[in-house]
Amino acid sequence: MTVYCATSNPGKLREFQLAAPDFDIRSLPSKVAAPEEHGSTFEENAVAKAEYYGGFVDGYLFADDSGLEVDALGGAPGVHSARYAGEQATDERNNALLLERLKHSADRTARFVCVIALVKNAKPVKTFRGSVEGRILDAERGSGGFGYDPLFYYEPFGCTFGEAPIEDKMKVSHRAQALDAMFTFLRSTAST
Ligand code: IMP
Repeated sequence: MTVYCATSNPGKLREFQLAAPDFDIRSLPSKVAAPEEHGSTFEENAVAKAEYYGGFVDGYLFADDSGLEVDALGGAPGVHSARYAGEQATDERNNALLLERLKHSADRTARFVCVIALVKNAKPVKTFRGSVEGRILDAERGSGGFGYDPLFYYEPFGCTFGEAPIEDKMKVSHRAQALDAMFTFLRSTAST
């Protein structure tokens, strides 16, 4: 089954394709301007993106919205994770700002959250949510993954997501959980 995905993030696309080798996962056939994200929840943003990008292809398309929720920061950066350090944000600047904001905090608990919205011919079908708990270190470790991965210590692995092989991260990540739920749903739809 062909399923389009709406991402321009190569790190995410690689994770999507690893998650379901039995699906033909394609990015959009041509470059499309990204919509603005105005939602206050991952669900709102994921659905808005999926409806927008779904208008450019026939059939199924999914879009995800994801981010990091840090308890000591009241859930920030949350839906603002990608642009935490402002319009010129980079992974490096976002991570530096996060460390700065947590400088005096002993509470380092955090989670990655991912919501995937699935549409068919641009009409909403269902949303799927995944999350994974960890803690924010006080310095980066590892150069794998992307975004906040080098700061996100995952206890069961005994290392950060930036140090873990991508195959291991994909067994447990927020994105993997949401993707698994979506692909399970699509397989059951295809067999009925
Ligand atoms: P989105 O593209 O609007 O979903 O923004 C997601 C942002 O959240 C990314 O740019 C990263 O900063 C952060 N993020 C989401 N998932 C991950 C992950 O698996 N590892 C590290 N950072 C992530």
